[in-house]
Amino acid sequence: QKRAGIVGAGIGGLATAIRLAVKGYSVDVYEGNPYPGGKLSEIKHNGYRFDAGPSLFTLPALVDELFEVAGKNPADYFTYQKLPETCRYFYEDGTRFTADSTPERLAKTIEKHLGEPAAHVLAHLQDSAKKYDVTEKLFLHRSLHRLATYFNKDALKGYLNLHKLDAFQTMNRANATRFQDPRVVQLFNRYATYNGSDPYQTPATMNIIPHLEYNIGAFFPKGGMVSITNSLVTLAEELGVRIHLNSPVEKILTQAGQISGIQVAGNSIPFDVVVSNMDVVNTFRKLLPEAKQPERILRQPKSSSALIFYWGIKKEFPELGLHNIFFSQDYAAEFATLFKQKTIHDDPTVYINITSKYEKADAPDGGENWFVMVNAPANDGQNWEELIATTRKNILEKLSRHLGENIEALLETEDLLDPRLIESRTSSSQGALYGNSSNNRFAAFLRHANFSSQFPNLFFVGGSVHPGGGVPLCLLSAKIATDMIPA
Ligand code: FAD
Repeated sequence: QKRAGIVGAGIGGLATAIRLAVKGYSVDVYEGNPYPGGKLSEIKHNGYRFDAGPSLFTLPALVDELFEVAGKNPADYFTYQKLPETCRYFYEDGTRFTADSTPERLAKTIEKHLGEPAAHVLAHLQDSAKKYDVTEKLFLHRSLHRLATYFNKDALKGYLNLHKLDAFQTMNRANATRFQDPRVVQLFNRYATYNGSDPYQTPATMNIIPHLEYNIGAFFPKGGMVSITNSLVTLAEELGVRIHLNSPVEKILTQAGQISGIQVAGNSIPFDVVVSNMDVVNTFRKLLPEAKQPERILRQPKSSSALIFYWGIKKEFPELGLHNIFFSQDYAAEFATLFKQKTIHDDPTVYINITSKYEKADAPDGGENWFVMVNAPANDGQNWEELIATTRKNILEKLSRHLGENIEALLETEDLLDPRLIESRTSSSQGALYGNSSNNRFAAFLRHANFSSQFPNLFFVGGSVHPGGGVPLCLLSAKIATDMIPA
């Protein structure tokens, strides 16, 4: 039986472990932390439970598929429900409304609250679906870096429709042309942040993202996002995968142009195939410092990071839902601050995720678990202590003003995640949430491939490599990489 060693038990590493076990490999996963899941883990504090990282769940079929390839019934391990609403929006001019989850209802709601003709929203979502169709065939299920990707029926169809991707103007320009109300432009520009990009720089291709939320749907997993990790761990272990926690990999070992194994706690462990779920920058810099470094790819600008406060709140807010956005007054200024000045804006857009709306047990009776996040620049050695203190004050003021309540007085517990911690806990280069930024139209081609051109038995998965960051794309990276690994 061939042996595979996987570096990291993030969502990409776990999905790869499952797929390789199904392929007949004997699989060992080495995870540096005392817990699996990487960014997709949880925090518990004083009766409150928080999902630590991802909060929006799209394309659940990609999780189901892992159980199906293993011959299991997904529902025996993992269940989820489709959300009836996607997000509650709060604007600085006092406008607030709940975005419905179907295109028709969303279009009507936006027309009612913001005066934008429903037809504009419907056209936008249809366009988003077309973009998804082209991209999915061309990019999402295949390696961009293998010739076979470019010579097949689907790819050909993709080329004929490439113009639909709208890669030659920015997302903001496309949206400002389509919509008359600046608040609608702001709403749809926000989707750039789903992969840590800047709507004023990223190509309009990224208008693909609303398709996931409105045409396919947003979902909530029973037990919170962490149950994605937990159910994959259960499945992997049932398939015989050994997950070694507290086991940071120190080196990827090479011999005569091949990978021979990995080094953990000073011991060399031989493997036929090694898959790295560690950020590709740190895989090369730390585990393979003597190999040729693919500098151009490793030096690409990073996506944004985030500052998150996990607040246990001793009150319930019926006006809030599972996902809530409190927009900044000046979105262009906010993104210029993030990506040009590389700091946090004084009036940041604030996102609150409250899983206790669906899982009562996530907060004590009469309370709510608030995951409060603002976009932050990737870590460049900013003065984080000062930035965190100022931002905390700005967020509390903004939320207190909108909700008519002194929020600070309601805090029962508080935890924090910042770009430095994201970097140290998951080895993400500069604490970026989604690997490289997608702020230019070549970004897709400047992510590292899922295989190595130097070592035939080394592969890469996770948010820092093709096809990109976010839970669904990490799951797809595992599929693409495993398809290339010989049985
Ligand atoms: P990671 O989660 O990056 O984990 C890598 C693992 O490898 C870690 O466990 C790390 O400890 C381990 N590791 C690294 N180096 C070594 C080593 N040398 N030895 C052993 N182990 C090692 N995505 C969404 O889809 N929806 C969202 O709403 C969303 N929101 C987010 C919010 C936040 C705050 C964050 C942080 C991320 C968010 N994301 C979201 C992105 C999503 O979480 C990531 O894209 C995805 O979880 C990354 O998975 P990964 O496979 O790349 O592994």
